[in-house]
Amino acid sequence: MTSRNKLSFVNATLRGFAGRCPNCGTGKLFRAFLKPVDRCANCGEIFGHIRADDGPAWLTILIVGHLIVPALFMVEQRTSWPEWVAMTFWPALALVLVLMLLPRSKGAFIAAIWQTRSAGSEIS
Ligand SMILES: [Zn+2]
Repeated sequence: MTSRNKLSFVNATLRGFAGRCPNCGTGKLFRAFLKPVDRCANCGEIFGHIRADDGPAWLTILIVGHLIVPALFMVEQRTSWPEWVAMTFWPALALVLVLMLLPRSKGAFIAAIWQTRSAGSEIS
């Protein structure tokens, strides 16, 4: 079992981003799409008390916005596809990216809060 003091912030956050327990890197961090496990099934570390709040949504919007907007401008300047295609494609792409990134962002936030014992954790 790894102590959070010995585990680097980057390693813990990357494990959380991958949806794995930031402590052992093996157990699952989520029991449902955005529902974290109360306790790691592998190492027993507790995560149910950690509240990521709006951080994951903020990070997801930040990343997706920075991917979608430049891509939209580049593609729209070079193509002349019908307006209904553009009005369908870009929101659908944004939705897919959000659904892919939101749980990863939440995992990264939970891992960062866990590793730093910062606010958001009801137990220090
Ligand atoms: Zn674990």
